[in-house]
Amino acid sequence: MRPVVLFPLFRPVTALPGLGPRLGKLVEKLAGPQVVDLLWHLPSGVIDRRYAPKIAEAPNGRIATMTVRIDSHAAPHNSRHPYKVRCTDETGVLELIYFHVKGDWLERQMPVGATVVVSGKVEWFHDTPQITHPDAVVPLESKDEIEAVEPVYPMTAGLPAKTLRKAVRAMLTDVPELPEWQDAAWRSRNGWPTWHESIRRAHTPEDEADLAPTNPIRRRLAYDELLSNQLALTLVRMQQRRLSGRVIQGDGRLRAKVAAALPFSLTKSQAGSLEEIYEDMAAERRMLRLLQGDVGSGKTVVALMAMLNAVEAGHQAALMAPTEILARQHAESLAPLCKAAGVDLALLTGRDKGKARQAVLDRLASGELPLLVGTHALFQEDVAFKDLALAVIDEQHRFGVHQRLQLSAKGRAVDVLVMTATPIPRTLTLTAYGDMDVSRLTEKPAGRKPIQTVTVALDRLEEVVHGIHRKVQEGARVYWVCPLVDESEQTDLAAATERHAFLRATFGDRVGLVHGKMRGPDKDAVMAAFQAGTLDVLVATTVIEVGVNVPEATVMVIEHAERFGLAQLHQLRGRVGRGEKPSSCLLMFDPQLTETARARLKTMRDTEDGFVIAEEDLRLRGAGEVLGTRQSGLPEFRMADLAVHGDLLAAARDDAKLIVDRDPDLAGERGQSLRTLLYLFERDAAAKTLRSG
Ligand code: ADP
Ligand code: MG
Repeated sequence: MRPVVLFPLFRPVTALPGLGPRLGKLVEKLAGPQVVDLLWHLPSGVIDRRYAPKIAEAPNGRIATMTVRIDSHAAPHNSRHPYKVRCTDETGVLELIYFHVKGDWLERQMPVGATVVVSGKVEWFHDTPQITHPDAVVPLESKDEIEAVEPVYPMTAGLPAKTLRKAVRAMLTDVPELPEWQDAAWRSRNGWPTWHESIRRAHTPEDEADLAPTNPIRRRLAYDELLSNQLALTLVRMQQRRLSGRVIQGDGRLRAKVAAALPFSLTKSQAGSLEEIYEDMAAERRMLRLLQGDVGSGKTVVALMAMLNAVEAGHQAALMAPTEILARQHAESLAPLCKAAGVDLALLTGRDKGKARQAVLDRLASGELPLLVGTHALFQEDVAFKDLALAVIDEQHRFGVHQRLQLSAKGRAVDVLVMTATPIPRTLTLTAYGDMDVSRLTEKPAGRKPIQTVTVALDRLEEVVHGIHRKVQEGARVYWVCPLVDESEQTDLAAATERHAFLRATFGDRVGLVHGKMRGPDKDAVMAAFQAGTLDVLVATTVIEVGVNVPEATVMVIEHAERFGLAQLHQLRGRVGRGEKPSSCLLMFDPQLTETARARLKTMRDTEDGFVIAEEDLRLRGAGEVLGTRQSGLPEFRMADLAVHGDLLAAARDDAKLIVDRDPDLAGERGQSLRTLLYLFERDAAAKTLRSG
């Protein structure tokens, strides 16, 4: 359970003064729903109000705080003109300028003859210094109310900066002192303050230097987060191992049949990965292995062999895909091979209901059904296996550690194999999959032809359409991916629909459309038609991104390629070049390119190696973004920026390993503090794997 000392941080933000339901919503949008989210919402700037000149000395454009006497008020004759308050000191006259003033609050706030302290940006207009809408005006006796150095937070529209600062100040008074979880020697070597001190200072910067991610305060906080990440992964991995595995070792009879039925032989990396997988399965401990391989590198057949290994030994195996389309496709491509091996395979998705679904469930429960392919519907409670021994999860980036634990709870000592087509740079594999062993498929199956990639400006659309038309007449099958307009499905859809209509007008009716808003069966029907060749062109939004296999497709057109990330472009391009015929990829771009977009397109032209592309992506975007996108499902860091704190990651991993070696239950004094750290960063799932105490 979450330690009591953290309770103040896990209240809703509306528990803070000044944040009612309405402003609370804005803070939630900005930082997150809980107080702890505000803790991680660090200032991105500072305003220094310590400069206190006389009026005549105040330079144009600088923030100044001045003590002045109110001389007179001048209300405008009409509302287009500003309200002016004339102030003086012994050196000159300062005007305070206000627009759209209603009522007499200015006269009440600044009675003539009073001495006040004003702070704001000075601008000289003709020969008079002015401050338009001062940031603060207070009576002389309350001058301490003006913060000498004011943190500036990233903001959202409608939320007053002052309100946010006030809420943060209140939060800081409530921030608990937490027991130190860092190794004492390590902390002192780095010269890092305590956690409490770090948080306080991170929110009360004195100058720009205090905001730098490289300063000790920010580094300490980054390290805390990385340590929580690595510790969580290490604990989950250990738990997988501790839950004793089983020795699973088939006799090879089914695999031999499949090998004989395959029209190809396995590549060296496929065979090597299988060796590693068989070894894991045969060992007493649980397998938790990641199979990384580019699109088209042949992960499916590896998965099948691993599953058959379990079936040969008398157990069941399941393959889970992130989408309905993919689950179906897996089932379809595995069916003939399973048939050759004489093994029964069923499909279970959220769309299966009633009797048919019940029949599958019954056969699963009785053990009669050895192989199941499905979507996350496999998580549902009524899905019970008689003896699940291996779970294969395709396209990991849609699932998290939590789901992995859930699925492996479906059986006794379930071995888990995760497959991902997202090549991740080595440095990042650690943060995302630190809890897993890794096998990599580094070669493409033999006979693959390279994909010819060209970039074309969008204003040559007509030429492209003609070229494609010619190819279609020669029998090519074409994917046409429509631009991501503004991440809103509505507008994406409009663009795709329009392109579909346009291409139909040119090519005739053998042009299909598939998008995310379509109902499952409709989507399947279009995909099937494209697969069967009754459609020549498939216009799509990015729904085809993941895994779809149509070896006959040889042309990929991507409109507004500059709007896609490298990883996405690579995934999309991987849809072609899967068959015997040479393939090509057309990246159409808006000539108004940013430097980064230009570099991305160049990378795409230069290489097809997913791992090289991933490294380049990391270089161009920085680790924060590679790991940071919500869609990726990879961990998002709030304090750590791997582009700057990358060196801390390896240290955190070693630290985590040592901790778990010495005190696997986190029962010692430091262990207890580390539990607090896990909860602080909301790694609850990992903390829950620990025995209580
Ligand atoms: P991935 O899932 O890694 O993207 P797939 O498993 O869908 O790739 O394989 C892509 C295609 O390559 C499939 O048509 C598959 O039959 C074929 N394939 C797999 N392994 C080999 C191999 N060793 N040699 C030739 N073709 C292969
Ligand atoms: Mg696949």
